[in-house]
Amino acid sequence: MKLFDVYPINDITVVKAKGSYVWDQEGQQYLDLYGGHAVISIGHTHPHYVQRITDQLNKVGFYSNSIHIPLQEELAEKLGRISGRPDYRLFLCNSGAEANENALKLASFHNGRKKVVAFSKSFHGRTSLAVAATDNPAIVAPVNQTDNVVSLPFNDEAALEEYFAAHGGETSSVIVEGIQGVGGINEASAGFLQAISRLCKKYNAAFIADSVQCGYGRSGKFFSQDYAGVDADIYTMAKGMGNGFPVAGIIIAPQLQARHGMLGTTFGGNHLACAAALAVLEVIEQERLIANAAEVGGYLMDELRKIPQLKRVRGKGLMIGFDLPEHLKELRKNLLFGQRIFTGEAKPNTIRLLPSLALRKKDADAFLEAIQEEIHAMEGAAPAVK
Ligand code: PMP
Repeated sequence: MKLFDVYPINDITVVKAKGSYVWDQEGQQYLDLYGGHAVISIGHTHPHYVQRITDQLNKVGFYSNSIHIPLQEELAEKLGRISGRPDYRLFLCNSGAEANENALKLASFHNGRKKVVAFSKSFHGRTSLAVAATDNPAIVAPVNQTDNVVSLPFNDEAALEEYFAAHGGETSSVIVEGIQGVGGINEASAGFLQAISRLCKKYNAAFIADSVQCGYGRSGKFFSQDYAGVDADIYTMAKGMGNGFPVAGIIIAPQLQARHGMLGTTFGGNHLACAAALAVLEVIEQERLIANAAEVGGYLMDELRKIPQLKRVRGKGLMIGFDLPEHLKELRKNLLFGQRIFTGEAKPNTIRLLPSLALRKKDADAFLEAIQEEIHAMEGAAPAVK
């Protein structure tokens, strides 16, 4: 049997990984500033993480949500404390799309309404309502198309006000990324997030903060929306939560009530997933990784801004983007195959950096040196048109 061919892949096979580095079959070492798409939060194969999952696997790997799983309560307690939201409740699932799907559904159960507001350049996942709320018609199948999702311009407070004035009473929820990832590292302004928060309260709609990519400490705060001083009704999270183990969740403000059967899942919150998620939070806390993300990310952005060829350096913490001029559009590929550094991309010309939150300053320096070397090599081969 062959694989269903949906991914354009790089011709590299990773066989070993540690911290911010991975190795291929030939033993070549790569600096990983992509983190397998913002997933590696505490670093590859962190010893505490490996130990905790291994110990758990030797006890019990899985049982369903029909019995007590004290690890879930332990995780909820720790997550509530570290995220600064001890009075929220936790529902566990398996992926970012599923987290958003559950959040949108929960909001609709809560207020009995159907309309969802989403924004231009957003990405919320590939399941039915999550993909309908995603601003990319190429991944929305006919069966996913719905009149229930309205797309408004990102960071446009006036358009949002106008929409709510006309349709606030029918609006179930507003879903927004604090920093758009797939869309190219676009930060929601504090004023925009505050307007969402205010209008949702006024019209009894749910504010859903999609923190799948920008959350879990990546921005230098637990949730990137925290920079705006707002509290969402539901936060969705996934990528960094398990450092690669598939675990995701939503945390839910106290005013949204649960009832039996409202949400559910077979695999969500299983013993191994909880062990992975607990190990991640323990390392984040012990190694002060959120502060490290703020510090090393701030340094990296300051230094990248000194490289004149890189345009619009932006982001927060270790969620960084910059644009490439036309003559350097192959830079990401050259960094990978020439300098052996993984970075992310966003169409058409953005490089995204989404490394482990444990990235060290010396790794940031290695990258800064390599990117300048590569730019000079590329300009030497084909000088920029002045
Ligand atoms: N929301 C955001 C902001 C994302 O970046 C992603 C994944 N790129 C998702 C949701 C979907 O997550 P998953 O692929 O785990 O379903």
